[in-house]
Amino acid sequence: MTRRRLALATILLALGLLAGCSQQEPYSETLLAFGTLVDVTIYTDSPEAAQAAIRAVDEDLRFMHENWNAWRPNTLGRVNLLLPTGEWFSSGPSLLPLIEQSIALSEQSEGLFDPAIGKLVGLWGFQSDSAPEGPPPDEGQIELLLEQAPRMTDIQIDGIRIRSTNPAVRLDFGAFAKGYAVDRVIERLRELGIQDAIVNAGGDLRAIGRHGNRDWRVGIRHPGGDGVIASLQIAGDESVFTSGDYERYFDWEGERYHHIIDPRNGRPAQGVTSVTVLHDNGAEADAAATALFVAGPDDWPRIAARMGIDKVMVIDADGGIALTPAMAGRIRLEGDEPAPFTLRELP
Ligand code: ADP
Ligand code: MG
Repeated sequence: MTRRRLALATILLALGLLAGCSQQEPYSETLLAFGTLVDVTIYTDSPEAAQAAIRAVDEDLRFMHENWNAWRPNTLGRVNLLLPTGEWFSSGPSLLPLIEQSIALSEQSEGLFDPAIGKLVGLWGFQSDSAPEGPPPDEGQIELLLEQAPRMTDIQIDGIRIRSTNPAVRLDFGAFAKGYAVDRVIERLRELGIQDAIVNAGGDLRAIGRHGNRDWRVGIRHPGGDGVIASLQIAGDESVFTSGDYERYFDWEGERYHHIIDPRNGRPAQGVTSVTVLHDNGAEADAAATALFVAGPDDWPRIAARMGIDKVMVIDADGGIALTPAMAGRIRLEGDEPAPFTLRELP
């Protein structure tokens, strides 16, 4: 949990809690999962229902956090031990849908989002919750992994069994598990009869229904500092996910190295500072934010179109803001003099 994430979570909470006059009351609780604070706010006229729902969600999040972290002796850890053997094995019921969906999303993104590159992520030191200190890895080691070219498409699925045809595959769901988990939490809330809620994991969120008698309002943090660069109003069911180079990085000999790796060259992706995606579910929004970041300032509209994503804000390395027309129709750029932006049509 970085200080900036905490600041963003606080801004979002404040925006979310701005008074709305309704008989319903908001119930909020902050849980800890995936190395970040997860704010769950529920609107209901039954405090008991809200409390029970938050307890259930807390339990679910603990389970997901425990089992889907790539670098612990857990369900995913076991899968990562067995994949290099090339043998068929059962990945367990909680992981299989996660693996299946990430194979599909990886294909749609032309491999720019690819959770099979866990070894590259580990090589750069971004496997732990805290940022590494450097130095950057040895060129030879990067080259070796590029030659081995682990990809989600190396994973075969047969019923409940999986195997990898490439021993270099190591799964790391850091770019995707949070979105997937937020979706599961929303599903659980709905099962428990909750219709109005927001689940906000350090600025990445999904909201359903409304905030009392008005829409949900969410802020998107300025990548260059504190405060919000833009805000969105959400009603119904939508997710907002951001990938940025300012969340986890290290500086080494005047260069900055961040945690989003371009699978094509094994190095931190260049040219973009942050990507925000507005979409109807968290898993796809999370994967797409990462993929578009890797695609870079020229190619991202093409990858967005391939992934079926139409609401995107990209801030490039020079601070230039680009919006898709659909995003421009929704987002409000904040500030006394809102920043200029360019419109990028999708092909
Ligand atoms: P954030 O952690 O800010 O939400 P992302 O959703 O983009 O950002 O996830 C970044 C994490 O995903 C990295 O820490 C790493 O574990 C993993 N990762 C890095 N590059 C890729 C990639 N190209 N495809 C899939 N996962 C990646
Ligand atoms: Mg992501």
